[in-house]
Amino acid sequence: MPAPRHIAVLGGGLTGLSSAFHLSRRFPDASITLLERQSKLGGWVRSDKVIVENVGSGGSPATVLLEGGPRTLRPNAKSVLELINLLGLDSAVITTSKSSPAAKTRFLQIPELPGLLPIPSSVASLLSSPLRSILLTAVGREIFRRSNRPKGIKDESLDRFMTRRFGEPFARTFGSALIHGIYATDSKKLSVRAAFPSLWEAEERGWGSVVVGFLRGSKFKLKSDYDLGGTIQLMHNASVYSFRGGMQTLTNALELSLSVRPNVKILRDTQVSSLRLQKSKAFEISLSSGAALSPTHVISTLSLPVLQNILPDPGALPHLTANPYSSVTVVNLVFPAPPSEIHPEGFGYLIPRPTTGYSSESPRFLGTVFDSCSLSAQDTPAPLTKLTVMMGGPYPALTEEHMSLPFIKRHLEDHLQRSLPDPVYWKVRRNDNCIPTLTPGHLERMQELRNVLWERWEGRLEVIGAGVGGVSVGDCVDAGKRAGEAWS
Ligand SMILES: Cc1cc2nc3c(=O)[nH]c(=O)nc-3n(C[C@H](O)[C@H](O)[C@H](O)COP(=O)(O)OP(=O)(O)OC[C@H]3O[C@@H](n4cnc5c(N)ncnc54)[C@H](O)[C@@H]3O)c2cc1C
Repeated sequence: MPAPRHIAVLGGGLTGLSSAFHLSRRFPDASITLLERQSKLGGWVRSDKVIVENVGSGGSPATVLLEGGPRTLRPNAKSVLELINLLGLDSAVITTSKSSPAAKTRFLQIPELPGLLPIPSSVASLLSSPLRSILLTAVGREIFRRSNRPKGIKDESLDRFMTRRFGEPFARTFGSALIHGIYATDSKKLSVRAAFPSLWEAEERGWGSVVVGFLRGSKFKLKSDYDLGGTIQLMHNASVYSFRGGMQTLTNALELSLSVRPNVKILRDTQVSSLRLQKSKAFEISLSSGAALSPTHVISTLSLPVLQNILPDPGALPHLTANPYSSVTVVNLVFPAPPSEIHPEGFGYLIPRPTTGYSSESPRFLGTVFDSCSLSAQDTPAPLTKLTVMMGGPYPALTEEHMSLPFIKRHLEDHLQRSLPDPVYWKVRRNDNCIPTLTPGHLERMQELRNVLWERWEGRLEVIGAGVGGVSVGDCVDAGKRAGEAWS
């Protein structure tokens, strides 16, 4: 394949920014154009600094950092550590130590029970936990349960997988809660192979038992071509991390680095309205401004339904509309009291699927993050508590009432079993269609998509991003690192 001369990157979220960053290093002789519909780059990443009056020492104002999108990262995502190293962001990193309460304590709020239940993190806490019967029964039986994967199946939902191996109470209580926290979706709809390939593989390695499979060790080989500098030492003893200036530190640094590269052009406020492959073998990209581009190669990081909409022939690429997307409403609250007066110490809590399902009667809470426990280094020291409520996902659409302060505060008080002062600041952000639900069969569908891109589009169009290769920040940045690898 001839080397790329002009690469267009569609979408300036995390995947698009990291694609442009890595492509501009790999192909210094190609010109790269990053096209973003909005004036702000970063996609779902949004860190806002707000000033809260009269809460600092002596009644002074305090600055609080609030995240509207991703908020914490896991140290195992090497692609992000590499960016931190290459962008020189080491000193901006803040870590949550493995021994801190935020790392050790997480809670469940069972909709049918009052208050929060700590998820056991040691044998002692397991034995005294009200969750012990679900946990001990699930794990104890799993080891001895015969292999029960239906013959010939290539994928299934996480809920079905967990029910098959660990039983229905475990799948609902722990599985659905975990999926609310990561994918904001119903675990009955999420592909186990796409979301948790290690579980599927452990079942095979353990002759049917996931627990035995994990005890036998993993044969997953992670790629090790990352330029990590000193970031591994930085992450020593970190359970999660972020940046003093929030997640936007990463996207701002990418933007800054791209803006000084001679071979990169960033076009904001520029919506891609159509993408076609011409007979001349160049692409034609029409822009909302009326201008057009003819790049030799294209990386699309747009969500798959958006990509479907800009293709002149709706059947040009398969499976773009196969997965639904979840909408998440994020509510940031700042209370004028220290965390010890607002909530127990810990990372936060998740709420499993109610036994009655996702009914219209439910308050639509997915979980709450106790940000002050892990991310207080982002704020001016002051006796205040920031926390974030996540709502929506698989529940019926939220009404104005669900997004009102009295409603949210009443349910927080129920969960935390205490009365709360009025917040000194609160903000509701609706993120519509923000997280794809990778439904069963996703991996096979994406392989078929890649085959078509090779056969009919000669591999010069790559389709990547959260809707293709995984939704975490690490997955998105890794996809950007791998963009155009086949072109060199
Ligand atoms: C509320 C929330 C919380 C999250 N929390 C975490 C977390 O704590 N940890 C974690 O690892 N992950 C988290 N995630 C997941 C992660 O943030 C996302 O999966 C990731 O940011 C997606 O990046 P992307 O670049 O693939 O897509 P996007 O961010 O959607 O970027 C796509 C870009 O394309 C642009 N665009 C759309 N249409 C056009 C067009 N026609 N022309 C030009 N541009 C267009 C959009 O404006 C956008 O900027 C969270 C996600 C959300 C929504």
